[in-house]
Amino acid sequence: MTTTDTASDKTSVLTSVDPATGATLATYPIADEDAVRAAVAKARAAAPTWEELGFDGRRKALLRWSSQLVARADEFTELIHAENGKPLDDAFLELMLALEHIAWAAKHAKKVLAPKKIFPGPLMSNFTARLEQRPLGVIGVIGPWNYPVYTPNGSIAYALAAGNTVVFKPSEFSTGIGNFLTEAFRKANPQLPEGVFLAVNGYGATGAALVQAGVDKVAFTGSPGTGKKIMAAAAQNLTPVLLECGGKDAVVIAADADIKAAADAVAWGGTSNSGQTCAGVERVYVHRSVKDEFVAELRRILENVQPGSGKDAAYGPMTMPSQVDIVRRHIEDALKNGGEAVLGGLDSVKAPFIEPVILVDTDESSAAVQEETFGPTITVRTVDSIDEAIELANNSTYGLASAVYSRKQGLEIARRLRVGATSVNSVLGFAAIPGLPFGGSNDSGIGRIHGEQGLREFVRPHAIAVQNFAIPGMALMSYRRTESTMKLLRRLVPVLHGRNK
Ligand code: NAD
Repeated sequence: MTTTDTASDKTSVLTSVDPATGATLATYPIADEDAVRAAVAKARAAAPTWEELGFDGRRKALLRWSSQLVARADEFTELIHAENGKPLDDAFLELMLALEHIAWAAKHAKKVLAPKKIFPGPLMSNFTARLEQRPLGVIGVIGPWNYPVYTPNGSIAYALAAGNTVVFKPSEFSTGIGNFLTEAFRKANPQLPEGVFLAVNGYGATGAALVQAGVDKVAFTGSPGTGKKIMAAAAQNLTPVLLECGGKDAVVIAADADIKAAADAVAWGGTSNSGQTCAGVERVYVHRSVKDEFVAELRRILENVQPGSGKDAAYGPMTMPSQVDIVRRHIEDALKNGGEAVLGGLDSVKAPFIEPVILVDTDESSAAVQEETFGPTITVRTVDSIDEAIELANNSTYGLASAVYSRKQGLEIARRLRVGATSVNSVLGFAAIPGLPFGGSNDSGIGRIHGEQGLREFVRPHAIAVQNFAIPGMALMSYRRTESTMKLLRRLVPVLHGRNK
């Protein structure tokens, strides 16, 4: 679902529209290569001031940004509703989670990244060893539209807390929201140079220009196709990348699961935000003994869930018009491949809205099971054992997240799933715990946002060894090394390393 190379790339103005009505909300000049380079230069110039603030100064600046976002929460959530389509409450929850992460990154950066003394070992006991973490410099953050605040913020807040400046290219479908974030930071911190946190606006070409603009790392969230292009482009300069890509997340429901709770969570996890959630529920593997009860309960819940453009709808329109065709193709494909639509079907696609669809026992090779759908559809497959459920859940090119419902074996099953995160007896629980890292493997990406790992993504370790005094006769790294030193070492090494049983 990449958005590069579209006709829109050739215009000089980006028009932001309400996805429910198509009404124009605002227009933005598109940043071309020169404008992107100028933004990166500004961010580079601001980097020393931001770094010199230290952990405590940056913490204050980040928390002032949070307070500014809280003070303008009504205005901001209205904008998120208008530009992205999600209901107001969902917009507020997204903002709340982003604030949790800003606070976590701001308050933990010092502890996680402060210089540490390292034991030098007996052979180097005349040294003091230190490990210091330096900011990388300027981080290019490229974001998606589905969680236009929470998702890019997983890179932005952590990169800033670690002492980097940030140039942010929001998705072309959430440009206003992205610019609200940078403007709020600026309003909260007028004393800081503008380049600490800047937005550059545009389509894929602007993102591609940012990758080539000499940034010190690219933190991308979006589709695997775009992630691969970015990694290939970044390789030209060996620019490191953090890639948070898509998912095809599975839920395993064991025979001993609380079926009502599982159905409730799957219903919400599969359809909220119109199913446009990277770690949302796309596939369910349910034990045969509880399958009928589960499907009946899931259907009962989702029969009463309807999308709409209202501020209090259950969920909103599809944000990106082209995604509607993908969802339709997946439903068609599931029905051709043995799937039974126990709720909805092709008629559920009423662009820009899609009503919930439940597809039972679709062949595992179908696109509906293998590819990311990113719509309010859920495939449910009956399994005869937990082993079978785990094998099918792991049989995916993605490896982002998952969930397990079981009263007794939740943790045991979770450990066997090849993903970056698992919720036991909940869906998406990990995403609301800021100290837990988030990210996937294979087509789901490389690296982690959030938590300690999320801070470490944006620093370069600097190892420093200080020789405090020379040990007579122990000049190891010198042509003055003597025979007797070598004799001593030959006696010492077996004592240190040769007695392991
Ligand atoms: P996308 O890949 O189409 O676009 C993402 C961003 O990349 C946009 O800002 C776009 O303008 C930019 N871009 C496009 N082509 C580019 C190029 N050649 N070089 C640089 N930048 C370029 O993705 P999307 O449709 O905006 O987002 C949906 C995808 O994001 C889904 O696959 C979803 O699963 C994934 N996602 C992942 C996470 C996560 O944390 N793992 C979170 C949210 C969304």
